Amino acid sequence: MHEMGVVIHLAKTLDKLAEEQHITRIGSVTLSVGEVSGIVNDLFVDAWNYFRKKHPVLNDAELKMETIPAYTHCDGCGSKYETVKHGKICPNCGSKETWLIQGNECIIKEIEAETADEELINQEDKGEENAGDL
Ligand SMILES: [Zn+2]
Repeated sequence: MHEMGVVIHLAKTLDKLAEEQHITRIGSVTLSVGEVSGIVNDLFVDAWNYFRKKHPVLNDAELKMETIPAYTHCDGCGSKYETVKHGKICPNCGSKETWLIQGNECIIKEIEAETADEELINQEDKGEENAGDL
């Protein structure tokens, strides 16, 4: 149920953002998810579809997910290798002194949204043009 927690957090973040930015509708959300973040995309989409119905601003929001490849750095030989293929032991020198460079994150990369402000601005502009000329 790791995905559920992340989705709840995501929905709260987007709700707050919508309030601050006067967003009326979110069209899509692009998430960058690390290969070794432990998030299973299918479970995540299920959780998302459940939660977006509870948040009016997210009702139509499409979830797009991009994968961030995981890389590990080896302190033994200074090389960089693919984490998923080789795990915590360096394939070049066999050292266990390794650490993850990237691939454990889950970040909001992009949001497509509509705001109420645009409509307001357009409405205010109308009707004032002729007042000074007459
Ligand atoms: Zn190494």
